[in-house]
Amino acid sequence: MRTTDAVWLAPGEPQEIQSDLVSRFQQEYGRAASGTWFAPGRANLNGEHIDFHAGRCLPMALAHGTYVAAAPRTDGQLRLRTLDASLDDGITTVTPDQIGPAAAASGQDVSGHWSHYVSGVLWALRELGRSQPAFAVDADFGADLLVVSTLPIGGGLSSSAALECASILAFLALGTPFGQDNPLQDLNAALTRENRKDLAAACVRAEVEVVGAGTGGLDQTAAMRARPGKVLSLDCRDFSVTPLDIGCILRGYRLIAVDTGEAHRLADGQFGDRRADAEAATRLLGLDRLRDALPEQPRKADVSHVLEEFDRLAEQLETLDGRSVEACRRRLHHALTEMVRSEKLHHLLSGEAYGVRHIASTVGDILTAGHMSMRDDAEVSFDIADLVVETALAQGAEGARLIGGGFGGSVLVLITPAAIPKLTAALERISRRIRLLDVAPSAAAQAL
Ligand code: ADP
Ligand code: MG
Repeated sequence: MRTTDAVWLAPGEPQEIQSDLVSRFQQEYGRAASGTWFAPGRANLNGEHIDFHAGRCLPMALAHGTYVAAAPRTDGQLRLRTLDASLDDGITTVTPDQIGPAAAASGQDVSGHWSHYVSGVLWALRELGRSQPAFAVDADFGADLLVVSTLPIGGGLSSSAALECASILAFLALGTPFGQDNPLQDLNAALTRENRKDLAAACVRAEVEVVGAGTGGLDQTAAMRARPGKVLSLDCRDFSVTPLDIGCILRGYRLIAVDTGEAHRLADGQFGDRRADAEAATRLLGLDRLRDALPEQPRKADVSHVLEEFDRLAEQLETLDGRSVEACRRRLHHALTEMVRSEKLHHLLSGEAYGVRHIASTVGDILTAGHMSMRDDAEVSFDIADLVVETALAQGAEGARLIGGGFGGSVLVLITPAAIPKLTAALERISRRIRLLDVAPSAAAQAL
């Protein structure tokens, strides 16, 4: 029992984490923090590698997330420290001339230091403030920040977006008229849905333009706009969201995220490579965004039609924009079937037509089909993830799949509570680095 407990990664008690962080801030910077902000990680029921194709994604916020304690400065500098043991290298100072895409691209630090996520967000908020005066960041604004997270870092549960979203709330609170008008927790009620959408978009700009990672907006939307108890059905054509009740899946079942302990690095080339394959296929089809290849309510037959069209257009080609035609076709196949799975889940979760057992097994089948597609078509899975999926299914899970960008990360499992002890024991035999997180759909980013 003891070993089994050890594999669970608890979200912790937010108030305790906050008060520890605030006292640590005092020690670190020799002054009091002005506040603490939190943003959650996420698990995605379906919709990997399709946010940038305008597909539908179905994320939920975790109770696990990232906490940022901060106090303002008036010299434009950022001083940053993370308490994550693997990344902590003391206080990093970022001067105003080092903030923004140009500074990041000038290559003084090509190693992708974590501080770029935070300085990138300050730059992106300044950009947003140009068109929205309430969000205009004071010219000399800077801040001291201390970061702690209850998420695995690089574990496919979106620690990067959690860091961005907690940081942007800190900057909004401490450096803008909006923050001055809505101090401390007043910020939470003052933020409209539209505000949250704009702030999520700013975080996307930070990750794409400053960090240089190819994120499509799923993670930041989940962190900034999730609702407790809901799956956020996100239409990436216009970033509109429909919160859907998850009760019908979770009645008699649990969702668990299995962190494989294999961290990925999305800033590396592989993720961008997969995306480039799919984009080459999209161009061949003559489309700006791949979602438009399918009708509003797509079926399997629609996928076949698009693939036939692709084969016809690719017939005489040896390569496609210098890429393997077969690889591009597999990425296309993944993206299209993933879109169909998302629409099917959206439909299932919106309706009331199914019995408990039926909906869980249907959702489970969709999860598992999603994994096979990640493995065989997107080709972003890896040995431990495949083994975790196989093991979960062998232990009676309704379904399991790799979530996140792949090349490391976590597997989402739908299973009955009764089957969990055997599953955890089996997972412990696979790798000592495996950790389990309970997926309890939680609230979005907020001031604490
Ligand atoms: P994921 O978002 O799936 O966890 P990413 O590779 O997108 O994985 O993001 C991980 C990166 O984000 C880390 O390498 C680090 O640069 C940054 N990061 C995330 N959380 C923290 C944290 N708590 N402290 C410092 N940096 C962090
Ligand atoms: Mg990330």
